Amino acid sequence: MTELTCIVCPRGCRLKVDTENGYRVTGHSCEKGEAYGKNELLNPTRVVTSTVKITGAMHRRIPVKTNGAIPKKLIFEAMKLLDGIELKAPVKLGDIVVKDILGTGIDFVASRDML
Ligand code: SF4
Repeated sequence: MTELTCIVCPRGCRLKVDTENGYRVTGHSCEKGEAYGKNELLNPTRVVTSTVKITGAMHRRIPVKTNGAIPKKLIFEAMKLLDGIELKAPVKLGDIVVKDILGTGIDFVASRDML
């Protein structure tokens, strides 16, 4: 049995996942929490946020994030893809910075406009 806190919403339900019985989840208050509990043990994923350099803009770096969750085990490698990237202003919210991160089908996108 593994215990963890659901991070899908602020309620923070305490989940128990029975790893010996088909990853049965208890302690959740909704279906999202049940799915989170199971996935967190079988294939944990996260949305990743970071920043990259930008030139010709009001700031030197611009925030970026993945437009979906990627496997936790790929986060380090995914962050390395951002090294050396230098965007040029103007950049729009949602512009793709790195497409199809490591074959996941998820992209890094700009998380704000920057002129
Ligand atoms: S189980 Fe449902 S209600 Fe509870 S924290 Fe997770 S998402 Fe929120």
